[in-house]
Amino acid sequence: MDFELSEKMQTVLAMIDEFMREEVLPLERFFLNEPFTKLLPRIEEKRRAVKQMGLWAPNHPEEYGGMGLGLVDHARVSEALGVSPLGHFIFGCHAPDAGNIEILHQYGTEEQKQRWLAPLVAGEIRSCFSMTEPEMPGSNPVMMETTAVKDGDDYVINGQKWYTTAADGAAVAVVMAVTDPEAPPHRRASMILVPTDTPGFDLVRNLNVMGHAGEGVFSHAEILYHSCRVPRANLLGPEGHGFVIAQERLGPGRIHHCMRWLGICKRALDLMCRRAAERTIAPGQTLADKEIVQAWIGECAARIAAARALTLQTAWRIERHGWKEARQEISAIKFLVADTMLEVVDRALQVHGGLGMTDDTILAFFYRHERAARIYDGPDEVHKLSLARRILRDYRDDEQREA
Ligand SMILES: Cc1cc2nc3c(=O)[nH]c(=O)nc-3n(C[C@H](O)[C@H](O)[C@H](O)COP(=O)(O)OP(=O)(O)OC[C@H]3O[C@@H](n4cnc5c(N)ncnc54)[C@H](O)[C@@H]3O)c2cc1C
Repeated sequence: MDFELSEKMQTVLAMIDEFMREEVLPLERFFLNEPFTKLLPRIEEKRRAVKQMGLWAPNHPEEYGGMGLGLVDHARVSEALGVSPLGHFIFGCHAPDAGNIEILHQYGTEEQKQRWLAPLVAGEIRSCFSMTEPEMPGSNPVMMETTAVKDGDDYVINGQKWYTTAADGAAVAVVMAVTDPEAPPHRRASMILVPTDTPGFDLVRNLNVMGHAGEGVFSHAEILYHSCRVPRANLLGPEGHGFVIAQERLGPGRIHHCMRWLGICKRALDLMCRRAAERTIAPGQTLADKEIVQAWIGECAARIAAARALTLQTAWRIERHGWKEARQEISAIKFLVADTMLEVVDRALQVHGGLGMTDDTILAFFYRHERAARIYDGPDEVHKLSLARRILRDYRDDEQREA
């Protein structure tokens, strides 16, 4: 494994770092204090600039206008973009579109690709992913109540979803619904593309999450599907393959989150060091002179380096051997990087004192929004248990062999 940066990647990262520093970070003040829709025209301006620089959609296929980077290179890019909540959106590689683009690319019919994939990669429309339900356990999604019943050439969808991220303003939803309740549990559900202007697609509200309902790509909606009728041609992939496709979406999706979280770690550590060095705490003494703060900085730096190394190793393994071969590593980084990030953000906030609790820095936003990292795309516990089960399998096999 060699993670030395190629010359091309050194140039790309230098360009991204400069753009983030000069063009994106100055927007955060407005992002934190004004409605997102008010900021959107300036964000669109930055997105056009990114396209002109040839840095648009780094992880998406070149044939659709992306840069076509492999996962290891994208890990570096994603860390560089993750220093700001605006980075991924401005560079066209934000969730949930990134995951939806991957499954449309892999499973979409030619017609579906023309209608949805091309404009999604171009950033002309947005999408959302509608699986979790309020009344059912999201960590065991085979328990699902939403149904899609065949009626002539259509599916008729009924059910209630929530936490459909970025549904507000999205053009299309990828909806998980039970198409065959009699099938074995993992064959019951399918994925169906539902244009959000379809009658019966009812966005009830943007959920108030940690005190903020958010807007647009920074929101999470509750949606009622009420006799929502779409053509059977909107089925994505084979019928009954919803969970197979969901796994293929969530595997890479998890490492994408980890890469972004490393960017948050980097930013939080940077802010922590700056504040520690600047803040006079006693005559002739700054916070950086206090050993406890030095210890935090040392611990955070070491934990970030370890989290980065394991994330790159996982990206390398997925790139070489496919995501199925990297399932253990994906589970490990999902809880390890989330935990590292939350610890680093918490320490950085602590060093900022009262300032850290305000929206005068980005830390309080990270603190509020990223707590969910330990819940979405599989809660910590599920990943820890799954990793342990795989490890223990070998021991159990050994015992059986020895018996
Ligand atoms: C910010 C955010 C964005 C999201 N975006 C989306 C989205 O775009 N689309 C979408 O469909 N969903 C989305 N979700 C939903 C998310 O995937 C679910 O919240 C998650 O899968 C957990 O499901 P649940 O909330 O129903 O919790 P439950 O399944 O009820 O679990 C509750 C808790 O129980 C514990 N637990 C669960 N299983 C086990 C176990 N086997 N052993 C021990 N303990 C366990 C965990 O601590 C877990 O947090 C999002 C959630 C958040 C918070």
